[in-house]
Amino acid sequence: MDEAIPFNRPYMTGRELSCIARAHANGHLSGDGQFTKYCNAWLEKNTGAHRALLTTSCTAALEMAALLLDLEPGDEVIMPSFTFVSTANAFVLRGAVPVFVDIRPDTLNIDEARIEAAITSRTRAICVVHYAGVACEMGEIMCVGRQYGLAVVEDAAQGIMSTYKGASLGAIGDLGALSFHETKNIIAGEGGALLCRDERHVERAEIIREKGTNRSRFFRGQVDKYTWVDQGSSYLPGEISAAFLSAQMDAATELTARRLSIWNRYHAWALRHEQDGLIRRPTVPAHCGHNAHMYYLLLPSARHRSLFIERMKAAGVHVVFHYVPLHSSPAGLQYGRTAGVLPLTDDLSARLVRMPLWLGVEEHLPRLLETADVALREVVG
Ligand SMILES: *Cc1c(COP(=O)(O)O)cnc(C)c1O
Repeated sequence: MDEAIPFNRPYMTGRELSCIARAHANGHLSGDGQFTKYCNAWLEKNTGAHRALLTTSCTAALEMAALLLDLEPGDEVIMPSFTFVSTANAFVLRGAVPVFVDIRPDTLNIDEARIEAAITSRTRAICVVHYAGVACEMGEIMCVGRQYGLAVVEDAAQGIMSTYKGASLGAIGDLGALSFHETKNIIAGEGGALLCRDERHVERAEIIREKGTNRSRFFRGQVDKYTWVDQGSSYLPGEISAAFLSAQMDAATELTARRLSIWNRYHAWALRHEQDGLIRRPTVPAHCGHNAHMYYLLLPSARHRSLFIERMKAAGVHVVFHYVPLHSSPAGLQYGRTAGVLPLTDDLSARLVRMPLWLGVEEHLPRLLETADVALREVVG
């Protein structure tokens, strides 16, 4: 049998090791050295965020956002249930309550039209998630946020190089969190960044990231000794990770273009099956520039999906489902609540299957798509 096609394989540009060698030669291995500064500057230039701070993960950046918002126990944060656990956990760690809202049928992003009805006197923030690197309706969401005095946090873990009406994801809300986990488009193994849209959060973000000290100000010569000034933790990555990431950032445009060409091949292939009524393809609104983070199919039912995953696996192609909605998970039931019912979240999450999308899968696509053709016809046709 042919070699199995994995669901994901991290891509390396080939220039990571020489960057790491330079970090090694610099002899500065803790955070905020030359490479971290380079990555922060790259992010500011490429997203338009006022300030970018590398973190150890997107999870860490979301935790920083929750600290910056000074949430108190019982405060509420509106978010989708169709997301990764970190979106909710970051706020739950502060004692806040995730309030889950249903998603849109087209992009699977939070339904902006349902946010207002979920607002109570305890609501402090809205945390949106740009699923598959396709933007939420940020215009409407920022309007609701401003109208009710709520902070808007973007979980842009999947959104590097994606845009909404030309603006970079993560730099539209008050705070944004990016991920450089090896399953994302631009990687550092583990890594992330916090984006601050304007000056308001910057000084405190630097303090929170540096264990609650004003060490960043000290290094800039703004204070003559550094001390404990606020709550905080250790959220900054070491220079070796930043060196690796800098090589990836330098190739970001090219990597995104290659991912888009794979995504477009999937999309062209899936058209016929969509016309035959076997599946539904992803929707990307015209005003959203996406980064081809993910290609998924929506099958007619959960049962069809299980059978499809099984058939593909038997033929050596690893396709996977995605989130178990948070509102029906044990911790989601314990720490969160829903705003009304979430029929679309329940339905769509049960039918979604993700196809392998990594740089290098191109050469396997003919066999992969042929296998999927057969499996779809057997399972759904
Ligand atoms: C990957 C992901 C995260 C977590 O990112 P880490 O960098 O691994 O902490 C959070 N939210 C979403 C939507 C993700 O896809």
